[in-house]
Amino acid sequence: MAQYVIAIDQGTTSSRAIIFDKAGSIVSTGQLEHEQIFPQAGWVEHDPMEIWNNTREVIGQALSKANLTRHDIAAVGITNQRETAVVWDRTTGLPVYNAIVWQDTRTQPIVDRLAADGGVERFKKQVGLPLATYFSGTKIVWILENVEGARAKADAGELMFGTTDSWVLWNLTGGLEGGVHATDVTNASRTMFMDLETLQWDDDILAAFDVPRSMLPEIRSSSEVYGTVNEHSLLREVPIAGILGDQQAATFGQAAFDQGEAKNTYGTGNFLIFNTGTEIVHSKNGLLTTLGYKLGDAEPHYALEGSIAVTGALVQWLRDNLGMISSSEEVETLAKSVDDNGGAYFVPAFSGLFAPYWRSDARGALVGLTRFVNKGHIARAALEATAFQTREVIDAVNADSGVPLTEIKVDGGMIANNTLMQFQADILGVPVVRPVVAETTALGAAYAAGLAVGFWSDLDELRANWQEDSRWTPQMTVAERDRQLRNWKKAVTKTFGWVD
Ligand code: ADP
Repeated sequence: MAQYVIAIDQGTTSSRAIIFDKAGSIVSTGQLEHEQIFPQAGWVEHDPMEIWNNTREVIGQALSKANLTRHDIAAVGITNQRETAVVWDRTTGLPVYNAIVWQDTRTQPIVDRLAADGGVERFKKQVGLPLATYFSGTKIVWILENVEGARAKADAGELMFGTTDSWVLWNLTGGLEGGVHATDVTNASRTMFMDLETLQWDDDILAAFDVPRSMLPEIRSSSEVYGTVNEHSLLREVPIAGILGDQQAATFGQAAFDQGEAKNTYGTGNFLIFNTGTEIVHSKNGLLTTLGYKLGDAEPHYALEGSIAVTGALVQWLRDNLGMISSSEEVETLAKSVDDNGGAYFVPAFSGLFAPYWRSDARGALVGLTRFVNKGHIARAALEATAFQTREVIDAVNADSGVPLTEIKVDGGMIANNTLMQFQADILGVPVVRPVVAETTALGAAYAAGLAVGFWSDLDELRANWQEDSRWTPQMTVAERDRQLRNWKKAVTKTFGWVD
């Protein structure tokens, strides 16, 4: 009997393969970063071939580190950076253009064109999302309109679209030799094309975008056997049995299966997901409505989501663009060199502002500066920006649900930062809790795959695997918290309307 499940985590900065045992503990990991391609201001691309080659390589790394073979692996789960769009040729198997990444803002003119008739909320009722450059739909349109020959090929049924889960699945299952072209409901819910109720592509919306249905993958559940790995892989014949977009995977890995449960992930950006059970809830406070998960034939679970474009990416920016620190971890040492932010507030609206504002006309601002402010204060303001933005998203969730969250489960790269986690608890006024297995994204994909093949029997077994590692409790006075929040809101308004 195979004792392990492998998860492929195709992320924004790297691709990982992580092998888990039945207790949900990590047995081994393979990881490779891929190039971030910035051809112009606001453009972000990845090379899909590099991503696929890295995926194969990290599978090999993880297996060999643990001295395992395919016979030890019960199933493969896939989780992925969502919204990032790949379009490839059905006859050659090659991408027609680089992957256009979720952070890329080049499609603003396409968004404006579509919004001219009915505003940015034109399709919100059906798909749960406002028109924005963030989602895959306008990225596909850009490729069809700007890559030579793409429109004609798409109309002839020769192109395929996928988010990176579909790209990896198609290649793993054989590519040109019978590859499976599918995605799961959570990824499909980020395109702008999937109807939240029917869980199918909406022909009227496709017509409005002028995207042929023949390009799109089949929409499947998050936990079922999509196919088996092709014979050319180290994992040949292992079933691929789980797919969840990264944020939904993290929610699943945090065992937040039930209505009212939530998690917040601190990575390149921040993503809060609040499970609304089998009910579709439309936000009145700037949150997205999205799929949480769907296990086989069971009813889908929906979620409200607060997406923040730039959190950890601001730390990277201090490192790469300003050279203020030489590693992300160093931001904490620098922030601790001062007692507070010295009056400085940093609003990192580098890609406009996502939730709860959805202002594509915003750009970043550093305000409240005096001659007193030094590098330490700026480092602190950068970390605090993550906590303030999270507070605004949680306020929106609480307003929509009517039942305030009493604690928040966290994961992602930034939670290694104790100064940030303490400030987060202070600014929220509720405890912040970290689980033992903080690789919740990969774990969630492993869980979805393992459930489909009977490796795990039910959700209760997974709930029992969740264990608390650390907890930060609020220390700040209410008056101080309120003062800081007032300043933050003032700072946010300074970023509006910067782009005409
Ligand atoms: P993703 O999955 O989006 O690629 P991760 O969850 O791996 O991201 O987190 C990486 C992000 O976390 C980077 O933006 C990095 O700058 C930030 N980060 C990592 N360690 C720290 C730290 N100690 N303090 C603050 N930020 C950090």
